[in-house]
Amino acid sequence: MKLNLFGVEVEVVQGDIAFQPDVDAVVNAANAYLRPGGGVAGAIHRAAGTGLEEECRPLAPIKPGEAVITGGHNLPNKYVIHCLGPIYGIDEPADELLALCYRNALKLAEENEIVSIAFPAISTGVFGYPLEKAARVALKTVKETVPGLKKVKLIRFVLFDKKAFEVHKKVLQDLI
Ligand code: ADP
Repeated sequence: MKLNLFGVEVEVVQGDIAFQPDVDAVVNAANAYLRPGGGVAGAIHRAAGTGLEEECRPLAPIKPGEAVITGGHNLPNKYVIHCLGPIYGIDEPADELLALCYRNALKLAEENEIVSIAFPAISTGVFGYPLEKAARVALKTVKETVPGLKKVKLIRFVLFDKKAFEVHKKVLQDLI
């Protein structure tokens, strides 16, 4: 599903964040230490190779809501933007910290003249953020941010499973 908001394509697809060859940047649902780990971070670091971990080391640790940018190494993307989402029930206020991730990632994208960017559903895996609640925060934040974007023209949400994809699709439809 795809729609145009203020000249920016906002798209929801089912897929693997480590296999998005047509976008300039992919977003990593990182851990504070910017280490490989599981889930999205595992997939991104596996595909990028050890050079990514080396580039990340001096940038860590980061705090919930923060984002940092690196090269894509062996990924097909020029950049990786690493965001630390809130751990649900621990990092508060969760909705503001999650929104901050998306805002900070898009700010870095603008600063680096990134035209296309793909996000996973940050915090909805190991960090336990309920899927629909997280989807509402993510898509609402994107909707609020797009009018101010000058460089970014495509924002893609890449959802790993069908359920997450359906939830994001519904939330995006509700928002328009
Ligand atoms: P967090 O620690 O921020 O919760 P996770 O990586 O554990 O991050 O999970 C975030 C979301 O990404 C979950 O919904 C999970 O199902 C999904 N996910 C896991 N692997 C991938 C992948 N390769 N591509 C896209 N999404 C993924």
